[in-house]
Amino acid sequence: MKSIEVHKFSNKKVTYYFGYPFKELDKYVNKDLSVIITDDNVFRYHETVFKKRKVILIKAGEKYKNQNSIDFIVSKLIDYGVDRSYTIIGVGGGVVTDIAGYVSSIYMRGIKCVFFPTTILAMVDASIGGKNGIDVGIYKNMIGCFKQPDALFFDFNFLKTLPRIEWVNGFAEIIKHACIKDKNMFNELEKNNINFYLKYPTKINELIKKNVLIKTKVVKNDEFEKKDRMLLNFGHTLGHAIENSYNLSHGYAISIGMVYACMYSDKFVGFSDTHKVVEVLSKYELPTQFTFNKKQTFERILKDKKKSNLIINYILLRSIGKGIVFPINKEKLKEIILKT
Ligand code: ADP
Ligand code: ZN
Repeated sequence: MKSIEVHKFSNKKVTYYFGYPFKELDKYVNKDLSVIITDDNVFRYHETVFKKRKVILIKAGEKYKNQNSIDFIVSKLIDYGVDRSYTIIGVGGGVVTDIAGYVSSIYMRGIKCVFFPTTILAMVDASIGGKNGIDVGIYKNMIGCFKQPDALFFDFNFLKTLPRIEWVNGFAEIIKHACIKDKNMFNELEKNNINFYLKYPTKINELIKKNVLIKTKVVKNDEFEKKDRMLLNFGHTLGHAIENSYNLSHGYAISIGMVYACMYSDKFVGFSDTHKVVEVLSKYELPTQFTFNKKQTFERILKDKKKSNLIINYILLRSIGKGIVFPINKEKLKEIILKT
């Protein structure tokens, strides 16, 4: 499955290369004028493909998605003599693509950048849509910017080394897309499971492509998150508030966030399929129950940068496949969170 698509965003065209092997990178990017940013895990698994290239290695994990890594990368870019004629190539999961995108937008006021997402999560979500950023303490993506990459390369071979737990994480975003936008895909997910997709590479490749296009479409409609793009935050309001404070993986955190959002949807708009969402999440090995400090979590939600003061735009489900932006008064939200 090799295909090329060009997607036009408000101020940039981004070329998507599906099924393009990383080892053919030199056909698309000048080796002498590019530098790869990756993490030590991805590097270790795929060492041969990085040979004889300029590489900047960061430590793997969300806890390194911070300013220290940015400072480290910038000093390496200076050492390599990188100037504005260079392209940064982010090869890795969402942490790497977020960091690489951010560095590329600030280094020398911005240089070219392309991504090879290597996790399901990064392929279907993090690498798409031009949001880049880093965390500050427990606050996720507190600093960052909007900047579309120049190109995205989907080399599905990377998934062969991806640990099962990262498959699980990626499926949290896939289930999210199904919940807010695609009932048919939800039905497909209900019928299958992770083993099925592990066994049939063409099925996972197709599913990933479908999700790439769902996210792309939502972003194109609302690149700077005034309305429709907010739907992608389904499960994330509560999810982000518990993720770093309880040291949960992103997939686990938003899985729990989605379950609560379903329950709130029941209360506010009469959504009656919470049990189906819970079943699908469990099927993909995601947690659906979690004990957490509700009051503290509510306070963290208020601190989250995406919330305007009195009204919080919560993402709810009208039905499966139909997410809605639902403004909730702060006091009302507090009451619901404490009670549910
Ligand atoms: P995410 O993509 O979930 O946002 P990360 O960038 O932290 O988050 O990636 C998750 C983990 O998976 C990291 O430890 C990373 O090093 C590792 N990883 C990424 N891609 C691969 C791969 N193709 N094979 C094996 N491990 C990988
Ligand atoms: Zn997410």
